[in-house]
Amino acid sequence: MKILVADDDKIFLTLMANILADGGHEVIEAENGVVAWEKLQAEGADLAVLDINMPEMDGRELLKLMMADDRFKNIPVLVLTVGFMAEDVVGQYASSTLDYITKPFDTDDLLVKVQELAKRIPK
Ligand SMILES: [Mg+2]
Repeated sequence: MKILVADDDKIFLTLMANILADGGHEVIEAENGVVAWEKLQAEGADLAVLDINMPEMDGRELLKLMMADDRFKNIPVLVLTVGFMAEDVVGQYASSTLDYITKPFDTDDLLVKVQELAKRIPK
């Protein structure tokens, strides 16, 4: 699977990219929402892992752009957030292809969540 991963925390971004690459996935890394949006349009993705708090464009805005775009609205998205924000962010979309994971999380949990979401990729 081709997975877009966006997070402004460089160390954390690299860590997630390594975990997903070890899981056999092709990873596209982005350090903020603007870069993520550009790369998504240029390269596409089967699934996206998006941090909420990012400079330039945050995960909320990026998610809004994706949801409003026929090319990307069906891409499953795993939102990275802190506990108190999770319901707020995910709750506004009635989407079966949207899930969240709260930081900090186990590396195993990241792969499990991604695999669960991957089952919902439209054929
Ligand atoms: Mg962040």
